[in-house]
Amino acid sequence: MHESCGVFGVYSHDDDVARLTFFALFALQHRGQESSGIATADGKKIRVFTGMGRVSNVFNEDSLSHLTGHIAIGHNRYSTAGSSRVANAQPIVVSNGASTIAIAHNGNIINATHIYEELSGQGYTFRGTTDTEVIANLILSSPGKTWVEKIQYTMHRLQGAYSLVLLTPRELFAVRDPFGVRPLCLGTVDNGWVIASETCALDHIGAEFIREVKPGEIVVVNENNLESYSGESHRRGACIFEYIYFARPDSVINGRLLYPARQAMGAGLAREHPVDADLVMGVPDSATVAGMGYAQESGIPIAEGLIKNRYVGRTFIEPDQRIRDLGVKLKFNPLPQMLNGKRLVVVDDSIVRGTTTPSVVKILKKAGAKEVHMRICAPPIRYPCFFGVDMATRRELIAAQKTIQEICEFIGADSLGYLSIDGLIKAVDLPRQNFCLACFTGDYPIPVQLEMDKLALETMSASRQNSVCDGIEGG
Ligand code: SF4
Repeated sequence: MHESCGVFGVYSHDDDVARLTFFALFALQHRGQESSGIATADGKKIRVFTGMGRVSNVFNEDSLSHLTGHIAIGHNRYSTAGSSRVANAQPIVVSNGASTIAIAHNGNIINATHIYEELSGQGYTFRGTTDTEVIANLILSSPGKTWVEKIQYTMHRLQGAYSLVLLTPRELFAVRDPFGVRPLCLGTVDNGWVIASETCALDHIGAEFIREVKPGEIVVVNENNLESYSGESHRRGACIFEYIYFARPDSVINGRLLYPARQAMGAGLAREHPVDADLVMGVPDSATVAGMGYAQESGIPIAEGLIKNRYVGRTFIEPDQRIRDLGVKLKFNPLPQMLNGKRLVVVDDSIVRGTTTPSVVKILKKAGAKEVHMRICAPPIRYPCFFGVDMATRRELIAAQKTIQEICEFIGADSLGYLSIDGLIKAVDLPRQNFCLACFTGDYPIPVQLEMDKLALETMSASRQNSVCDGIEGG
């Protein structure tokens, strides 16, 4: 499962804003490694540089030196393999002759295809296939005398998840959808302002966290300082997977540091699914902290049983068939001396398609583990995500197709236990109504029925034609 994108913005006359953005994107690299980009503005002109790969692959001293000004936005993108193209890299710059803006987006707009068709009919042209370009052109085409009025109109038209940073030649904007699906926070640096997907980006650049951008809010930073425009927000829908997996454990979202929340998930698993075992391990890195929580609560010792190759995926060289057959072994190497003859509790963050977990169990057993008891922080995922998470279609979700006992047999584990929704909410320690839990319950905070119907039709037609439909993707 992958999250789509990290965003950052800064307005400061006292800093090299492109360099600051580079290091903030570096801290947000976990949110996307497909492409990266920075746009700057100096009061008159917007400059942009984007490229495929991670931040450190895309930028060097030379490219940063051309990104001058006192306003910057940046973006890390994750996308599905089929849409791996530089035209989809962000920030995206769009112009209608009179005005130019640059925009970077985290989320997914579920009515993007409809708006795309409408704007195409009005003569707007599109370079890529992202919903971010649709948002940008919708802002440009919207009625209103000010940028805030145009953005407010756009927000009324958009359905879906969006945490946006946007710049004009003179101003920086931060915009968050009324449900607050994706995180977005506000901070200060020297005499300027910063916006980021996660607080860890602020920590890394020495900025001070001020507050979250509120659901439905527009924040404007210009020469006159900072202004805020609150919008309507009837129902909250923060993505619970930010707490389980996406965001870094040193980030704070909704006032909750994620590290203890993940520890509490592991402890909850130990209470809900106890088992006699010799050793606990968390699948690195995302479930390491939850593994510690399980160990503390159960009193079973914890150790590392799998060493993760943290550089997997950092190459554009395609593996040959022999390497590809090794599958998950490219990512994890077991420690047989730690595992031999042991009854293991293995804590992981989630099971989506069920394609990776059987390989993990197999590697551990091959390395000598006597028993493998899988414990999963996320409840069974039975419904797809429409809000910016590249998950799977319903047909591909293993928990939508099999019972827990069948999944346990399929992955080859000796037992399998998922954290309950109540246990998860207790671990996060925030009101349940704050969250989107749709991938567990099918209760989407934003109406997605039309989109689901369309997807079902596309899936049918795709399987008939044995081809995949092109579409508009999230940012
Ligand atoms: S459906 Fe699941 S992954 Fe998507 S936003 Fe809701 S909680 Fe997050």
